[in-house]
Amino acid sequence: MRLVTYRRGRSAPRVGALVDDIVLDLAALAADRASEQGALRRGRGGFPKTMLALVQGGVDVWNEARQALEHGRAIVGRDGADRLAERRLGAPLARVRLEAPIPRPARNVFCLGRNYKEHAAERGAEASPHPVYFTKVPESVLPPGGKVVHHSVTKELDYEVELTVVIGTAGRDIRREQALEHVFGYTIINDVTARDLQKRHGQWFKGKTLDTFCPMGPVLVTADEIPDPQTLAITLRVNGETRQSSHTSKMIFPVDECISVLSEGFTVLPGDVIATGTPEGVGAATGKFLKVGDKIEAEVEKIGVLANRVVAPPSDGA
Ligand code: MN
Repeated sequence: MRLVTYRRGRSAPRVGALVDDIVLDLAALAADRASEQGALRRGRGGFPKTMLALVQGGVDVWNEARQALEHGRAIVGRDGADRLAERRLGAPLARVRLEAPIPRPARNVFCLGRNYKEHAAERGAEASPHPVYFTKVPESVLPPGGKVVHHSVTKELDYEVELTVVIGTAGRDIRREQALEHVFGYTIINDVTARDLQKRHGQWFKGKTLDTFCPMGPVLVTADEIPDPQTLAITLRVNGETRQSSHTSKMIFPVDECISVLSEGFTVLPGDVIATGTPEGVGAATGKFLKVGDKIEAEVEKIGVLANRVVAPPSDGA
């Protein structure tokens, strides 16, 4: 499934599944399917209202989402997409606004530093023998199309495209061979970074978690569609110019190891988000930092393109 969190007009965010360029409203379709079958849902208070609740709901809820998606696909096949929209069971993608798949994660976003050899090298660092973790606060998450603020505190605003894992099943001391079974799905994060702050403050947290510094999306692709996360092209463009172009096979610590080591003596939870590091080509290596007005496109194969624009802080009159 290609899952999205979206809004129509001023309504509250909803959970949808993308089929071609149609967003299926999973809660509405689950209800419609239940009523067609004459079976009222009882007990758990209906289909989850948020992506986080869906992910945390476990396998029964995931199966229900899948059945709702198939129900929607059948309606489109039988009656057409217009009829689906008339019945308020979905909408054309062009008519909705995407939010980040998980607009406000329950905990900090976990991130890997220096997880591609060429990126470690361009930053003048040895590849670490162990994964390096840091975090970004949940409030830094920004939707696809959202505006990255060029805060006046930084002169070195930078980008980092990253394949990102969403955990589906809790675990501690997860063995590497089992780690991918704990993955719900994959999305993209642009790990926006203030390089001068990263340097100045020693620990990376300060330079990496300013407001708007965690664009996420555009979709959350369930793990069944990406059985091997080390097989994906990963690229980033600024104003159409390719700045990063690599492949997830080049990670120093593959996704299963990132999860396994993070979970040593530490419980990972459903809905946890883990950004797995960026390849070479960042602005810090070339001197091409981000400027107000720049359009950033972070792309991972089989997931999509996460596009965001850089804007001046409101105090500068923007
Ligand atoms: Mn990063």
